[in-house]
Amino acid sequence: MSDSYSLLILPGDGIGPEVMAEVVKVIDWFQAHRGMSFDIGHGLVGGSSYDAHGTPLTDETMARAQAVDAVLLGAVGGPKYDVLDFSVKPERGLLRLRKEMDLYANLRPAQCFDALADFSSLKREVVAGLDILIVRELTSGVYFGEPRGIHADGNNPDNEGGRVGINTQRYTSGEIRRVARSAFELARRRSNRVCSMEKANVMESGILWREEVQWVHDNEYADVELTHMYADNGAMQLVRNPRQFDVIVTDNLFGDLLSDAAAMLTGSLGMLPSASLGAPMANGRPKALYEPVHGSAPDIAGQGKANPIACILSFAMALRYSFDQGAAAADLERAVERVLADGVRTADLTGPDGGIPVTTAQMGDRIVAALSQG
Ligand code: NAD
Repeated sequence: MSDSYSLLILPGDGIGPEVMAEVVKVIDWFQAHRGMSFDIGHGLVGGSSYDAHGTPLTDETMARAQAVDAVLLGAVGGPKYDVLDFSVKPERGLLRLRKEMDLYANLRPAQCFDALADFSSLKREVVAGLDILIVRELTSGVYFGEPRGIHADGNNPDNEGGRVGINTQRYTSGEIRRVARSAFELARRRSNRVCSMEKANVMESGILWREEVQWVHDNEYADVELTHMYADNGAMQLVRNPRQFDVIVTDNLFGDLLSDAAAMLTGSLGMLPSASLGAPMANGRPKALYEPVHGSAPDIAGQGKANPIACILSFAMALRYSFDQGAAAADLERAVERVLADGVRTADLTGPDGGIPVTTAQMGDRIVAALSQG
């Protein structure tokens, strides 16, 4: 692998461009001080692409996304686009990227910075120092399975209303094995523990999930500690004692719920990064899209109020998972931690007596300054 990394930056809509501008400062710092070289392209996605080209993602931008080492995305959407036809809504651009890049492993870390432990909905002693990673299968399961739909329920006299709604939970062994491999690989870079969650007690697809994850473990990752847990118990354990976990791997539906629950352990939407990874490319790096969990926040867009940390931590994930620069990623996370410990806060992180918040750009500058302090 070379030390030169190709990136496609898609800031998107609302606060997307504002938070992405701070990521660019961080990238510039790593280029200037760490000898890394980024070949950076810029493009449009979501409403901004619709305004310019009449589509939320052009074929040309899609092709560029397929060709780079990593895509960094801000956020898409906004009230201006709510009236658009479903086929050209801003979210379709993001969904097309995920689908055509076949990004089957969605990584949602839940990390609680000590300085923010009081923002969590749980007690400080339960969440302080929390650092877990939820790996959600993203391209299959009940959100995609066939048959699906709402149908007339024949002449069933016992069914008041006469309709039936159907979705199908369907997983192939191959789909389970590939996301399990992602989870085991990630665990090896962390504390080497994976907990797999399903409902094998009541669902055949859950039995298959458990058997296939175990198969991948026994045949390829016997060095990683593997446990299994029913997803409902997993939800309880996440709020009872979240620090017992390292990596959690689960399906699309359970992952949707569990990752949102875990997110709230850490306090603010403005702090949450994510990554979506696919199969390795010819250069060994996985197809990858990095983005904050939050949306375009139209209520604060253009006001310098957005917290850029979720987007900056998404870039830290790119350093770790696409570029194998784990030490640089840890330095960036430490810089964020130090700035927060110094009491520097954007508006979303200040309480009623929290003092004067810094702007989006000031937060970015402080993080870059903390990087320079080493
Ligand atoms: P949102 O995440 O944009 O905002 C929810 C609340 O959190 C708002 O009050 C907002 O001000 C605040 N917030 C979000 N990010 C913040 C940040 N970085 N700093 C400070 N405060 C922040 O969700 P929403 O309001 O439900 O959706 C707004 C638009 O974003 C919609 O068009 C929606 O479809 C879209 N959306 C996009 C994505 C994405 O691009 N991945 C995700 C969710 C929502």
